[in-house]
Amino acid sequence: MERVTVEKTASRGIAVAPVYLYLEPDLTPETGSIAAQDREAEIGRFLAAKEAVVKELETLAETNEIFAAHLEIAGDFMLQDGVEGKINGDLKNAQQATGETIDEFAAIFEAMDDAYMKERAADIKDIGKRLMAALKGVKRPDLGGLTRPVVVVARDMYPSDTVKIDPSLVKGILTEEGGVTSHVSIIAKSMGIPTLVGVKGILSKVEDGQTVCMDAAEGVIITDPDEAAVKEYEDKLAAYESERARLESLRSTPAVTKDGKRIYLCANVGNVQDIQNALPMNIDGVGLFRSEFLYMQNTHFPTEEEQFAVYKEAAQLASQELTIRTLDIGGDKELSYYEFEKEENPFLGWRAIRISLDMKDMFKDQLRAILRASAFGHVRIMFPMIISMEELLDAKAVVEECKAELRAEGKAFDEKIEVGMMIETPASVMLADEFAKEADFFSIGTNDLTQYILAVDRGNKKIANKYDYFSPAVLRAIGHVIAAGHKEGIKVGMCGEMAGDQKAVEILLDLGLDEFSMSAGSIDYVREQILNRD
Ligand code: PEP
Ligand code: MG
Repeated sequence: MERVTVEKTASRGIAVAPVYLYLEPDLTPETGSIAAQDREAEIGRFLAAKEAVVKELETLAETNEIFAAHLEIAGDFMLQDGVEGKINGDLKNAQQATGETIDEFAAIFEAMDDAYMKERAADIKDIGKRLMAALKGVKRPDLGGLTRPVVVVARDMYPSDTVKIDPSLVKGILTEEGGVTSHVSIIAKSMGIPTLVGVKGILSKVEDGQTVCMDAAEGVIITDPDEAAVKEYEDKLAAYESERARLESLRSTPAVTKDGKRIYLCANVGNVQDIQNALPMNIDGVGLFRSEFLYMQNTHFPTEEEQFAVYKEAAQLASQELTIRTLDIGGDKELSYYEFEKEENPFLGWRAIRISLDMKDMFKDQLRAILRASAFGHVRIMFPMIISMEELLDAKAVVEECKAELRAEGKAFDEKIEVGMMIETPASVMLADEFAKEADFFSIGTNDLTQYILAVDRGNKKIANKYDYFSPAVLRAIGHVIAAGHKEGIKVGMCGEMAGDQKAVEILLDLGLDEFSMSAGSIDYVREQILNRD
């Protein structure tokens, strides 16, 4: 038994469950030539691996159509011919022959002009990993295949890993790396999963299947606990649940401060399910719909129709307000079906509105879908990462172009749809007074704003102690933005993690913030702070 303490909490809560080690094994193929008489045995190895992978995919394909496509590729004879050719002709072993064939196939698809065919390269690489794991006799972790409650322990997790999480089975998350505003933390919070990130050395302190206790609010982990510790944490969990019940009893009280200001409490969501989860908290709407998750969970850029179906359902659910942020990809958010060029500084690179303005057809598919959904609720459009008036005006012009098209096609939308922007770059703070004349609302994204103002990477554990939205530099920026917005009569909200921090509520109210948008798990706590504030 060992007690491990961590400074910062990503998502509060208590968990007691067995560890699930989420580590990708080494899948580098062994290289080496084989003797001519071993050819048949090596081909046999490949065929056995292929059979195992096909079986695996058949089960997965029953519930997810992505795997039906993978199944087809895995069963492809060209793939088999390629591997056999390298074993028979070049006397390569099965691992090397498979690795090289997969690389060649993926390269062929990557070089194709057709976007759909290009996307298949990622599928081929994924199958390559499955084949290699089968050939090497190692198991790959799979969050989608969990059948019992666990605490996931990983080196780090990426948004693409977290999309497979089932919150009824993942009781807690512990990662060696990552910061509290990295996307894994945000996603865990929206799902209400207790999470601690940046837990140095945790991978060497736990074993797969061994029980672990964690109190994410206190930042305490007990590895390999004895009976008394398990009992202590089970009691803590029960006490935590009864405190939750007390907070829940406040949900019907509107968030009005003692001096009479009505504050809007909204949810940050990544999909329709998150809205369903937030509705019981009596929210005033969705202050941030991170539309990129719709793109990340897909095998291709979602079409207008696919997006429309999702936004329409979201608009009907969050009828008071649904703020859809246009695609914010890049930085640490990647797409399995689109190869981003490697960049020295991805957070200062080709991301968010920069990509949308460069890929206008894709941007228009999204805007048309949002506009059409606006006929079904109070939908607002929000642009991420704006740094110049030119960008805001260009983006607004694309909205107007889409509106004109829809009008001509006789498709319904809200003619008065509000178009606002995130304030998450220092440039947007400096120009807030100008932007307030053109934007219908502001939403302050403190996650990025803090990293850009302080020049502190939001995901870098080494400098996590310097990442501080209470820094006077950040607070002044927030005050300036709220004042600039109010001067032009527009509503100013916040959708960065700071809005869900109980300790920040008082100062944000003093600065005049109108709307707090946060992960569902924080809403009850923030409401209590607002109601109690003198
Ligand atoms: C932010 O930067 O504060 C924000 C809300 O956006 P994201 O965390 O998705 O970058
Ligand atoms: Mg951001």
